[in-house]
Amino acid sequence: MTNIQRIPIILLITIAIALFSYPAMAAEKIKVVTTTTDLASIARYVGGDKVEVTSLATGREDPHHIAAKPTYMIAAREADLWIRIGMELEIGYEPLVLDGSRNEKIRIGSEGHLDTSSGVLRLEVPTQKVDRSMGDVHPQGNPHYMLDPLNGRIVAKTIARRLAKLAPEHAAYFTERLKAFRKELDEHMFGKELVNKIGGGKLWEYQLKGRLETVLGKEKGALGGWYVKMNPHLGKKMITYHRNWSYFVHRFGLNATMQLEPKPGIPPSPGRLTEVIQHVKDQKIEVLIMANYFSRQACDLVAEQTGITVVELPMFPGAIPEATDYIALFDILVERVMSAYENKGG
Ligand SMILES: [Zn+2]
Repeated sequence: MTNIQRIPIILLITIAIALFSYPAMAAEKIKVVTTTTDLASIARYVGGDKVEVTSLATGREDPHHIAAKPTYMIAAREADLWIRIGMELEIGYEPLVLDGSRNEKIRIGSEGHLDTSSGVLRLEVPTQKVDRSMGDVHPQGNPHYMLDPLNGRIVAKTIARRLAKLAPEHAAYFTERLKAFRKELDEHMFGKELVNKIGGGKLWEYQLKGRLETVLGKEKGALGGWYVKMNPHLGKKMITYHRNWSYFVHRFGLNATMQLEPKPGIPPSPGRLTEVIQHVKDQKIEVLIMANYFSRQACDLVAEQTGITVVELPMFPGAIPEATDYIALFDILVERVMSAYENKGG
C-alpha cells in the first residue's frame, strides 16, 4: 500500500470514531419532545444545556387540526420525555404518534410522559355534559391556557420538577434555571424594579387577589412591563374569531363579547356574520383579534362593514419570526393589542 492510499484510511477511521462517539455524547442530554412550541420554549429555558428539545408543531398551524406524521413518530421514538398541553388538545394525533413510536418510556402514565395541564388555572370548564352539537368543546375546559403568562410560570415549575426526577444529578441546575425563567417573565409582566424589590411571586399573588395597586400604594408608579401597557385598556371590548384568546383576555382584564365562530371549531356562516356585524355596531366594538393561522376573509368582511380593526396575532412561538420564544410572544401580543386600541383613540 502506498502512502497516498493510507491517508484516506486514517481519515476514514477518524471520521468513524467521531461518528460513533457522537451518539454517546448526545445521549447525555435528556431528549425532550413537546407537542407545541410554547412548551418547547419553556423546556429549553428550564432544561438549559442538559436537554435537547424538539417540538412537533411549528407554531404556524391550527393546534386543533394537527395530523400524525411519520416524522413525529421518529422524533418520539428517541424521546426520554414527552410533554403535552393535555385537556384533549392533542387528542387527534397523540395516540397514533405514541403507538407508532413504540417507545415505552413515554407511554401515558410513565415518568417520561408529562401533561402540563395539571396545576394550571383553567377557564371555561363546562358545567354540563359535553356533546358534539356544542361544537369542538373540550370537556376539561379551554385548552389554550398557555396564553396566560401565569400559566407559563406554573408550567415551567412542572417541567423543572419532572426533569429533576429524570436526572436527579442536575436537580439544582433545573431549579436555578426555573428561577431565572420566572424572574425574566415576571420582569416582563410587572417591570424590573418591583420584581427586584418585592419579588415576582408576591406581585402575582396580589394581582390574583385583585389588590396589586392597593397593596403597592404609592409604589404603584414603579410598575412596568405588560401590566402597565395593558392596564389603560382594562375592561375594553373586543371580539375574537375563536375562543383561543380567553386566557389572554382574562389575564389582562379585557372583555371579549363574541366570537365569529358560532360554536368552537365551526366557521361562521353568512347569517352568523350578519349577527356579528350587528353586534359590533350596537356595542361599538373597535378591535377584532384572530390567530394568524385562520383565514382573514371573514374578519375582513366584518371590518369592511363596521370599520373594526383586525389584529392578526401569533398564537405560538414560531408563528412569526419575531416570536422567538414564549416571552417574546407576549411582547408581540401586548404590543399589537395595545396599539390597536391606541390607534382607535381609546
Ligand atoms: Zn380551541
